[in-house]
Amino acid sequence: MADPAECTIKVMCRFRPLNSSEVVRGDRYIPKFQGEEDVIIGGKPYMFDRVFQSNTTQEQVYNACAQKIVKDVLEGYNGTIFAYGQTSSGKTHTMEVSYFEIYLDKIRDLLDVSKTNLSVHEDKNRVPYVKGCTERFVCSPDEVMDTIDEGKSNRHVAVTNMNEHSSRSHSIFLINVKQENTQTEQKLSGKLYLVDLAGSEKVSKTGAEGSVLDEAKNINKSLSSLGNVISALAEGTAYIPYRDSKMTRILQDSLGGNCRTTIIICCSPSSYNECETKSTLMFGQRAK
Ligand code: ADP
Ligand code: MG
Repeated sequence: MADPAECTIKVMCRFRPLNSSEVVRGDRYIPKFQGEEDVIIGGKPYMFDRVFQSNTTQEQVYNACAQKIVKDVLEGYNGTIFAYGQTSSGKTHTMEVSYFEIYLDKIRDLLDVSKTNLSVHEDKNRVPYVKGCTERFVCSPDEVMDTIDEGKSNRHVAVTNMNEHSSRSHSIFLINVKQENTQTEQKLSGKLYLVDLAGSEKVSKTGAEGSVLDEAKNINKSLSSLGNVISALAEGTAYIPYRDSKMTRILQDSLGGNCRTTIIICCSPSSYNECETKSTLMFGQRAK
């Protein structure tokens, strides 16, 4: 068993293939891969725990990114897997799941659409949780998948343009694993958070107005507070700024302490997105 005090943050990076519109536009395929741990963009290398080239299968990504965390959660640890990247870079594709979501710093229950603005409370051990969020008791992988599908369809129903909406909200899926050995009465519990983050692209400063600008500011703020928390954890700083956003507050006990965290940095390989890809890669480097 792993050292309980050890807090591990792994940063992986995945490039999707060029899509058809990028090919039609004549975009260049820009990443250059050498080993399994770095990618070169514009002559500059970016190092990660692991880099996945465009032809990597879902199973290979799962085995390298999720398998170990899932196993540790079954042993009583808390874990979080994030997907970070610009819209259309492959975040949702990589997570396979898409429940509650955070949009404009409001928490909406994706298993009960009547709950649109849930609040964060602390339990008696001062561990933050989302009060009143629907919990489902599941006994099999099929039941987990059904629950995910239900959340997904609720998410679709509530919004007119799903693609735009998903690029501006974070979706968080929590699997709470409780086990009890009936002979020894020993209890184990672990949590696994799957976080499909809002698109990290910059909204042009001149183009955005009104509600779009509010959204953009909110996304930038919550992604930068996530970046601050993760780099503070990676550096081992004493003060970790969890309280700066709802997302980092909710994830507090799965990010600090005996946590298992994996960030999957998702990138487009297209020359058209070179700027965004570089800034996405820089976010990942901060966490290391
Ligand atoms: P995001 O959630 O980051 O906005 P998506 O996961 O929705 O992006 O991906 C955008 C599109 O690209 C989808 O049609 C998806 O199926 C496709 N895609 C993403 N990653 C890959 C990949 N690694 N291989 C093949 N297709 C991919
Ligand atoms: Mg998505």
